[in-house]
Amino acid sequence: MRFLPLFFFLLFSLFKSQNCYDLKTVLKVEPTELYKPHLLASQNFGINILENTKTIDKYIAKGKLVKVKKKSRGYRLQTLEYSRPYLVKKSRATLEKMANSFASETKSFFVVSSVTRTLEDQCRLRKVNSNASLGISSHNYGTAFDISYVRFDHKLKVNAKLEKELEKILLQYKNLGKIFYIKEKQQSCYHITVRNY
Ligand SMILES: [Zn+2]
Repeated sequence: MRFLPLFFFLLFSLFKSQNCYDLKTVLKVEPTELYKPHLLASQNFGINILENTKTIDKYIAKGKLVKVKKKSRGYRLQTLEYSRPYLVKKSRATLEKMANSFASETKSFFVVSSVTRTLEDQCRLRKVNSNASLGISSHNYGTAFDISYVRFDHKLKVNAKLEKELEKILLQYKNLGKIFYIKEKQQSCYHITVRNY
């Protein structure tokens, strides 16, 4: 039964190829238990689901979405293909603070691999990655970002020590009620949603 919405979504997509998503159907996809807190938290910032460039531009003009710098102490932004370098202010500030702590602890930097995605971006992503979520994600609200755990200092390899330091900071922020995070093994990243603390 849980795949029923998925089935209808796919069926609908087939018949409506000019628009890659249907908002009503997308909203109906039930999130996993692990993911639910992320969605609820991201809906606490007064931002409606980001459907396309026009929606993003509207929030940028209002000052509700701000640009994420390409680099700051402790992090680098990867070249983004399926997401855009904008976040709500609190998410950006939290990213910068966590990166700063990471740099102080390790003298290294981590790589942010994904930021904000519109529903249209998500459609494009789904064409290359069938694991990309069919439903909504906290990336669709400008509150979430992903940090790779296999690209510290731009070196593509596992680094258990740096990963441990990163996780220590994530856990600390989580315990302070500032973020939720999930380790996403398929994408080799931590998915982080900032809460409206
Ligand atoms: Zn993510």
